[in-house]
Amino acid sequence: MTADLSPADARAAILSRIADAARAAGRDPADVTLVAVSKQQPSDRVAAILAAGQRVFGENRVQEALARWEGQKTPALTLRLIGPLQTNKVRDAVRLFDAIDVLDREKLAEALADEAQKAGRSPEILVQINTGEEPQKSGLIPDDADAFIARARGVYGLPVSGLMCIPPADEPPALHFALLAKIAARNGLAALSMGMSDDFETAIRFGATHVRIGSALFGARPQKSQEPA
Ligand SMILES: *Cc1c(COP(=O)(O)O)cnc(C)c1O
Repeated sequence: MTADLSPADARAAILSRIADAARAAGRDPADVTLVAVSKQQPSDRVAAILAAGQRVFGENRVQEALARWEGQKTPALTLRLIGPLQTNKVRDAVRLFDAIDVLDREKLAEALADEAQKAGRSPEILVQINTGEEPQKSGLIPDDADAFIARARGVYGLPVSGLMCIPPADEPPALHFALLAKIAARNGLAALSMGMSDDFETAIRFGATHVRIGSALFGARPQKSQEPA
């Protein structure tokens, strides 16, 4: 879609679409953060987006993120984990990431709390909700969300600031975005990570504070590995 644009121009175009969508919804464009999803992207494309001023990036695999970012992570860069997290990768994840957007089970809450205590700091935490209740997808089913959020905060002391979802690929996303916003509101959570390249304007209409955009920003990902659901 944006293959003909320079990375800087592609980013400017996305930022202006984000701002237009926010204003159309009566929102402040500054309340919507562009998360550049750099997973599987060649390093020259990522370097170009960095040079264009992008400072918030999303990665879906801990090992890949470490390989890419460990040497160049600075406090000015924000890294968000947006893909499934196994408990044996929690130590590395807590060390590298500023935000973990995929908390979805008790064992993971326990491991995160444990590593955060050892590290003396916790990343920001978002709870992932499987709004479509798809068996192959991570995330809590909506009915379990309130009790889990309360335990993540109360029992494990995690700094849960919001929710994240990936709607089913074959359904209009609006109902899923609305559901996520509703669960966040009743739990007093401000952050909503929802919306990707094809639907971020709709997500902004329903209150997204973080839109996760990969291909519309960097161009299509090279087809080397299978994407997790
Ligand atoms: C890959 C990925 C994205 C970005 O997808 P695009 O369609 O390329 O924008 C967003 N969120 C998650 C969780 C992803 O895994």
